[in-house]
Amino acid sequence: MNEHHQILIIGGGNAGISVAAQLLRRNSKLDIAIVEPSDKHYYQPGWTLVGGGVFNINDTVRNEADYIPPQVKWIKDGADKFEPEKNLIITKSGEQITYNFLIVCCGAQLNWNAVKGLSEALGKNGVCSIYRFDIAPYTYECIKNFTGGKVVFTQPAGFNKCGGAPQKIMYLAADNFRKRGILEKSDISFFTGKPGLLRVKEINEVLLKVVKRYGIRVTYQATLIEVRSKTREAVFEVIKGDGKEQVTAQYDMLHVSPLASAPDFIKNSPLAVKDDPFGWVDINRDTLQHNRYKNVFSLGDVSNAGDTKTGAAVHKQAPVVVKNLLAAIERKSLTELPDKYNGYTSCPLITGYGKIVLAEFDHDNKFLPTFPLDPTKERYSMWLLIRYLMPWFYWNRILKGKS
Ligand SMILES: Cc1cc2nc3c(=O)[nH]c(=O)nc-3n(C[C@H](O)[C@H](O)[C@H](O)COP(=O)(O)OP(=O)(O)OC[C@H]3O[C@@H](n4cnc5c(N)ncnc54)[C@H](O)[C@@H]3O)c2cc1C
Repeated sequence: MNEHHQILIIGGGNAGISVAAQLLRRNSKLDIAIVEPSDKHYYQPGWTLVGGGVFNINDTVRNEADYIPPQVKWIKDGADKFEPEKNLIITKSGEQITYNFLIVCCGAQLNWNAVKGLSEALGKNGVCSIYRFDIAPYTYECIKNFTGGKVVFTQPAGFNKCGGAPQKIMYLAADNFRKRGILEKSDISFFTGKPGLLRVKEINEVLLKVVKRYGIRVTYQATLIEVRSKTREAVFEVIKGDGKEQVTAQYDMLHVSPLASAPDFIKNSPLAVKDDPFGWVDINRDTLQHNRYKNVFSLGDVSNAGDTKTGAAVHKQAPVVVKNLLAAIERKSLTELPDKYNGYTSCPLITGYGKIVLAEFDHDNKFLPTFPLDPTKERYSMWLLIRYLMPWFYWNRILKGKS
């Protein structure tokens, strides 16, 4: 069956549902369809707290059907191919859908297979990750049952969803060990592909104190390349000066944060940034409009709007897409009337149970604080915000287009 819609949204995750709901609040007569294959909608930021034993995994998932606005047509299928010259997409089941405007927000792909032996090792024998719904609870099993030994945490060199999450789960684990009196018996290492803990200098300094407090050893510019589950070894490639060397770390528990990229069907499409190995959708990072196809917009993890892949960024991007798309429908030029995304992202860095440093910044690492508080302080109030208020806010305000 072939069909046509005025606005076609690819992906009904955080970004897709937020944009659809906001568009309809501005104009209830719009003809909108969402292509989304999943029955379930996930509150992914909750998975860090599942890993820390604070949330139940079942509280992070709801039925997608309850969040797709009733006026929107849900095409329960996956997008497969894009022919933007013909304003056409082809779904996995072969359906052809044409559109006047396209919004691409199908999230990021997690590249577990980029690390040899990882996919087979995950979810057993101490190898865990908060980055998968089915494995996040096992992360807490590993933390809670740990009685001392070697613990290894990783962060990839390129992109990962929520830049702070690989460290948040590490600090929760370390704090759990401290509370149970086994921190001294725990040898915790953090291997990160980055040259620092966070790209904002002031927050990096705070985090350096936190790693010191827990006795965590940090190796920078280290990329996980292999997991040898039989011998419980994690192999890293570490940049040293002009060269690289391999470092093998023994583990009793290994927490892996995977490398993110655009999904392959985006990477291999005409919508992607040309010759970019990550394949993000090629948009103007101010207006979020495609650089070559002016009736295409993109936001969220799949867009190249910035290097931070967060729901907080989506929250600031969605109203920009809505305003600029409505302006485009009215044939207004976006160069004359652009609403700009300022690169805002936020990283609630959990540094222990009851402690959060809320880092909010832009493309240029400039602070953009929502609250008139010193953003470099660990705070219990921010823990209450993230632990109690944010999940409610997500399901009841953000996905309803009310914020
Ligand atoms: C462990 C973890 C912790 C996080 N912590 C935080 C945090 O503390 N703060 C924060 O702001 N953000 C956090 N995030 C990031 C946040 O969840 C994402 O940035 C946000 O969900 C991005 O929204 P999105 O709509 O771009 O992608 P998603 O919400 O992932 O939605 C993408 C949608 O596209 C659909 N899709 C996939 N393939 C296709 C296809 N072929 N066709 C159509 N649809 C398709 C998917 O089914 C999905 O519904 C975290 C993420 C993780 C994994």
